[in-house]
Amino acid sequence: MSQHTVIAVDGPSASGKSTVAREIARALGFCYVDTGAMYRAATWEVLQRGISPSDHQAVINSVKTSEITVLIENNSSVLYRGEKIPLEALRSPEVNAHVSEVASIPEVREILVAKQRALSSQVPLVMEGRDIGTAVFPHTPFKYYLDADPVVREARRTGEGHSDLIHLRDVKDSTRAVAPLRIAADAFVIDSTHLTIPQVVALILHHLRKSGLRASSHH
Ligand code: C5P
Repeated sequence: MSQHTVIAVDGPSASGKSTVAREIARALGFCYVDTGAMYRAATWEVLQRGISPSDHQAVINSVKTSEITVLIENNSSVLYRGEKIPLEALRSPEVNAHVSEVASIPEVREILVAKQRALSSQVPLVMEGRDIGTAVFPHTPFKYYLDADPVVREARRTGEGHSDLIHLRDVKDSTRAVAPLRIAADAFVIDSTHLTIPQVVALILHHLRKSGLRASSHH
């Protein structure tokens, strides 16, 4: 399988990585992939089917028989289950509360990681998540880890009007057995506590150029 360039952007909840990853993708003409949305969609489908997220075998069966597809539209990943899955469904308090448990199940990760890797055969990607640089694309030379002060992250999420106990998710995501949130040894770490989004984007674009990302790999 031929593989295009992948830029990995990892970090905890509300570290600013979604906005930054989207901007980087736009600047380079790469496709933006939100892997959190894939775990959220799997969780949403589990809840839609009336399955308890603590029944791991039933969750695995749900993901194996999932009717969800990931497509690329306008340089961005989009999730469908019949129709496009609405963002509000993915960001609901119920999904927030259960997504980390669903994402902790190794068989679930195996299935979603395979889909994430398959996308790289289509187009160059900026992929955002928790384990992109450590587990999904460990060999990409382009890895970024975004962090920010927990108080600032909590305030950002509350400012967006979301009910989301991000601290709890961070603990679950960092302590799970398979592909926990951690900094890849070769990642460029950025603390965005005192930086604006455009400053973080400029820093990464500069670093990418220095790291040898060539214009010819832009599509
Ligand atoms: O990025 P976002 O906050 O939307 O991710 C939601 C949840 O999905 C995370 O809290 C984590 O449990 C899971 N996730 C993951 N691996 C990824 C992306 C997200 O386990 N690569």
